[in-house]
Amino acid sequence: MPSMTWYHDTANISKRHRLNDDLHCDVCVIGGGLTGISTALNCAERGMDVVLLESETIGFGASGRSGGQVVQGFAADISVIEQYVGKESGYTFFQMAREAVDDLKERTARHAPEADLRMGYLHLTLNNRQFKAMQSLCAAWHGWGYTGPKMITRSEVRDWLGSDRYFGGMIDPESGQIHPLRYLLGLAKGAEEAGAILFEDSAVRKVDGTIVQTDSGLVNAKYIVYCCNAYLGKLERKLYSKIMPVASFISVTEQLSASLAATIFPRDVAVADCNLALDYFRLTHDRRLLFGSGASYSTIVPPGLIGTMKRKIVRIFPEMANIRIDYQWGGLIGITINRIPDIGRLSNNTFYAQGFSGHGIVLTGFAGKIIAEAITANDKRLKLFEKIHHQTFPGGWLRTPALIAGMSWVKLREWLNI
Ligand SMILES: Cc1cc2nc3c(=O)[nH]c(=O)nc-3n(C[C@H](O)[C@H](O)[C@H](O)COP(=O)(O)OP(=O)(O)OC[C@H]3O[C@@H](n4cnc5c(N)ncnc54)[C@H](O)[C@@H]3O)c2cc1C
Repeated sequence: MPSMTWYHDTANISKRHRLNDDLHCDVCVIGGGLTGISTALNCAERGMDVVLLESETIGFGASGRSGGQVVQGFAADISVIEQYVGKESGYTFFQMAREAVDDLKERTARHAPEADLRMGYLHLTLNNRQFKAMQSLCAAWHGWGYTGPKMITRSEVRDWLGSDRYFGGMIDPESGQIHPLRYLLGLAKGAEEAGAILFEDSAVRKVDGTIVQTDSGLVNAKYIVYCCNAYLGKLERKLYSKIMPVASFISVTEQLSASLAATIFPRDVAVADCNLALDYFRLTHDRRLLFGSGASYSTIVPPGLIGTMKRKIVRIFPEMANIRIDYQWGGLIGITINRIPDIGRLSNNTFYAQGFSGHGIVLTGFAGKIIAEAITANDKRLKLFEKIHHQTFPGGWLRTPALIAGMSWVKLREWLNI
């Protein structure tokens, strides 16, 4: 049977038991992606008894399928966040995003040194409008004291990437790339070493007060944390109405020759353009191009996907016309309307985090930390996130078609490069 992803073929995966019992604990985490595992790890380290329930396997959702792009910051501009929390707290969000990168580095060194974390990131633009917006972002970061990022012109792009497709961009030394499944599995092991119990094949069917029910057992918990993101489904309808599952797809090529790899990635940085339906790519440790693209709001796999992905690759790197695609998969990203993560509580003992809007690799770790902080110490930082109002997506049968229509216009603009 073919592996699910290149990640599954290059990670050391061990199976965990199904919940076949009735248990009591302090914290029951639902969902075994980066948010759930980080919550479990942070809570267990703070002395809580933790049980985590995952319906499939650890990393089954977006966390085991992502592009591995370690992107600092939020998907929304800080100016958008300021509209909810005010100027002063806007700066706190900027600092929290920086702290989240430091946490990821520290956690990787401690729990997952094999996760191949490499820093260095190239944000690219396709036209003057995007370039000017990126210049303002870079200036804002400098203004807040983060002076690492620097703009590069169109002619300088070639020093960083073997492509003539782009208009210029920004180098960010505090973003980078990682093997996301190795990272997640390392954190999972860390959570177990700190005392958390992780169950797989244990889908939560119902939450009733403090009781979390699966088909073969239940957990009675003082605190419950929903970490199911785009895979939540109907388990908690209020939460689900605040996010839209959007499919993104990844292709991994055959191994590249050393000379081709050096031509297209002369500085070994992770890369993304800044379209809404963006292309993002990087070189894996075994010298393959890992290329992600697209945002299907219908969540249906587009017909002829391999051909489409190959055309996109060749548009950037014409010398790859004859390259073979060895792996292809997709997954669901949870996005919110304002692109700010939705982190908070449903009641005094029920917490949640979701909707990282494509910036989850870094921010999920932080979400787990502030939920653990709120449960065990103080909820000051969680309260900042709770100030952000998240609108409900228009429901019913209109929810998806309306978005598809909106998205097509965005894609048309991006295609026309206007
Ligand atoms: C193709 C793709 C590429 C991406 N690329 C990037 C990238 O390069 N950089 C970046 O920062 N972000 C990226 N993202 C987004 C990032 O992966 C997510 O933001 C992040 O992994 C979300 O983690 P999570 O734990 O919140 O959700 P998930 O990883 O989706 O985990 C949710 C888990 O909950 C489980 N679950 C659901 N319902 C139940 C239930 N009833 N009972 C028990 N368990 C349940 C699911 O099985 C799943 O394992 C990408 C996402 C995708 C899909």
